[in-house]
Amino acid sequence: MKNLFSTRSSAAPVDAAQAILSGLAPDGGLYTPQSFPQFDLTSLQNLSYQELAIKILTPFLTGYSDSEVRKCVESAYSDKFDTPEVTPVREIGAFPVLELFHGPTAAFKDVALSMLPHLMAAAKKIKDDHHRTLILTATSGDTGSAALYGFKNVEGIDIQVFYPESGISPIQRAQMTTMDGSNLGVAAVCGNFDSAQSQVKGIFSTFPESESVQLSSANSINFGRLAPQIVYYFSAYMDLVRNRSLKLGDKVNFCVPTGNFGDILAGYFAFRSGLPVARFICASNTNRVLTDFLESGTYNRLRDFVVTSSPSMDILISSNLERLLYLSNKCDCSVTASLMEELKTKGSYKISDASMEEIRSLFCGWCSTEEQTLSAISSVFEDHGYLLDPHTAVAWSASSRYQAETGDTTPTIILATASPFKFPRTVLKALGSDPIPQSPSEQMKLLENISGQKAPAFLSNCLNLPDRFSDVIKPEEMMAYVQKKAGLL
Ligand SMILES: *Cc1c(COP(=O)(O)O)cnc(C)c1O
Repeated sequence: MKNLFSTRSSAAPVDAAQAILSGLAPDGGLYTPQSFPQFDLTSLQNLSYQELAIKILTPFLTGYSDSEVRKCVESAYSDKFDTPEVTPVREIGAFPVLELFHGPTAAFKDVALSMLPHLMAAAKKIKDDHHRTLILTATSGDTGSAALYGFKNVEGIDIQVFYPESGISPIQRAQMTTMDGSNLGVAAVCGNFDSAQSQVKGIFSTFPESESVQLSSANSINFGRLAPQIVYYFSAYMDLVRNRSLKLGDKVNFCVPTGNFGDILAGYFAFRSGLPVARFICASNTNRVLTDFLESGTYNRLRDFVVTSSPSMDILISSNLERLLYLSNKCDCSVTASLMEELKTKGSYKISDASMEEIRSLFCGWCSTEEQTLSAISSVFEDHGYLLDPHTAVAWSASSRYQAETGDTTPTIILATASPFKFPRTVLKALGSDPIPQSPSEQMKLLENISGQKAPAFLSNCLNLPDRFSDVIKPEEMMAYVQKKAGLL
């Protein structure tokens, strides 16, 4: 079944296998379903994470056979996660916290990126595609290492990651620049994430046709990144039903620390597929472009870009919002196409009152200042002995103020998107450590001592490995860099 449509043109739909191979639609749009499978909640109770993933993903992954979906799920969620529950829920004070950081690079992107390479390799077989695939990815921090880890040494696929020279943490950088594997490339780009990301989008639309190489994307614009994230919204809900915090059918809120709008959009797909959700709280840091959009209906990227302590959310162009706009405009591709054109040429757009009303009935935006973020880290550690990473702390602070100010008592699940040990300097600062050691490995050790918890081994190890990649290039050099990498120059 061909069920995925471009958000920007009325070209014929494609199946998920094709969408995952291509990444972006040829017109620059994002592949999106117009309708959603409906799951009977009763049938989802008491399943393991893997069984649940197979059940949820099978109808989304059109073009794949049932046994191919099963194989991809089993390869992704085997022993690479450090807990058999894959994405466990912990009750911390008033909030259930959905821990998404138990994968190999200690951030939530592992959940999707441990599966995407298998989906892509299977899609190449299904479509009888003998090109070499070159994955191009711009990262604001955590996508890079998770994608490199997922794709390393995968047959027939190479990967090139670009990260902004300033703004990511030393550990995030080391995770990428020390990664082993024969099919990997990593380069720093001058400027911020948005400029690297815009260049990558430009390369996709202007890359010369080639007999030998096909570009694809591991960013959350790829449908294969989104689909696996739908699963943990169901799994968190079922965990709360199992421990009797919820009755089957009760509504919940999810508070999602948001950058590119991918994670929270996967939650919306879960909602559209029958998950009882009252509200999605979209949590932003000081780069509050989404908060302003949800308040005013105007999306305006023309503002100063702020480097914060939650770098993976330092984003002014939230690509996946395009999919929500498409779905809330009755899948009218001409509306999305013109909004995206306005964003490109004018830097802003305003959506219609009708679609704003639809979006606001489900989504609200809350942002946290640096001070509020750090204070959430310290108070949660003081009150509950639990360490939040700065991204999760943005969401914690947003949820606390949301509950206090609205009086909404609906259970609110907070998505915890990274291990605190990935950002030890910020966490130590929040906890009032003084002095903070200079070296990231000393910082990690100090945090282990203070918290009595162990840092994930992969994180501490990468700091002792030699750098393999040291190129620093300008955004306008990226196209030539990629062509050379692809053997075309
Ligand atoms: C990527 C990332 C986010 C933002 O997720 P989006 O899907 O881009 O909205 C939040 N927290 C962490 C730790 C991340 O790596």
